Amino acid sequence: MKSISVLFALLFLHLSVFAETSNLPIIDMHLHSYSDQSYYVAPDEYGQMAPPTAEAHFEQTYESMRHHKIVLGVISGSSGSEELWISKDKDQRLLRGIGFSRSEDWRPQKFEQLVKDGKVDIFGEIGAFYAGKTLADPMYDPYLKICEENGIPVAIHTGGGPPETTYRGSPDARLVLGNPLLIEDVLVKYPKLKVYLMHASEMFHKEALRLMVAYPQVYADLGVVLWVHPMPMHYGEEFLKRAKEYGILERVMFGTDQMVWPHAIEKSIERLESFDFLTQVERRGILYHNAARFLELSQAEIDAHHVQ
Ligand SMILES: [Zn+2]
Repeated sequence: MKSISVLFALLFLHLSVFAETSNLPIIDMHLHSYSDQSYYVAPDEYGQMAPPTAEAHFEQTYESMRHHKIVLGVISGSSGSEELWISKDKDQRLLRGIGFSRSEDWRPQKFEQLVKDGKVDIFGEIGAFYAGKTLADPMYDPYLKICEENGIPVAIHTGGGPPETTYRGSPDARLVLGNPLLIEDVLVKYPKLKVYLMHASEMFHKEALRLMVAYPQVYADLGVVLWVHPMPMHYGEEFLKRAKEYGILERVMFGTDQMVWPHAIEKSIERLESFDFLTQVERRGILYHNAARFLELSQAEIDAHHVQ
């Protein structure tokens, strides 16, 4: 009888902790927007299908954000898809991440104008890896200079890509280019630049940790390492355990990289909540407070997120 009541007490405690956390705000530093032109329908690694249309994908992503109280989410995609999503962003949950798209004609002057018009919250996701480059490539220089001068954070894809990336549309991609140590020259040249390593560098998580220890301005987001495939999930768990051990967990931010699978948002939250090596305070840091600090949200904004 005693053990049953203890069991109930533990169950209740677990439920009450979940209820307590489920109403708290979350910031997702890694989402993708799509238009009818850029959207694709495919199964995820576990066979679960993407929504049938770009419109359905937006609706499901936005509904998941509402449901999980994701008060801010950084989107990136083509400029057309971003404008479309921003126009439908009734609750003002979305932050604009402007990256490079092969189909778009990018010039530093155009980028600077977008920054001055307040249309760039984040420079990224920068998929240099897919183009066979790193952020240290000279082509990024003028953009990084503008970002540093204007306090625009840079989001760089680190780690690898899906299976057969090199054979399917990214012939210049090489796994080694996902190593975050390759961006070290950028950190030296632009010491005030705010940078985050997307996907916590996946298989290069040790290098990410080393870089973060050496350069205290560098943050990381979790991206696909919370859900996409057992291998990156293993890297992600290892990264979090070591980040805690090395005292740099306060620079780790939640992100989902939901791509065309809105259900990845819930999977990612559940995965993070399942890590019992993290305290409740540490989980809240990852889900909200570390990103709030990185984005330099005001106390008024933080307070507003907590009463919604
Ligand atoms: Zn991404």
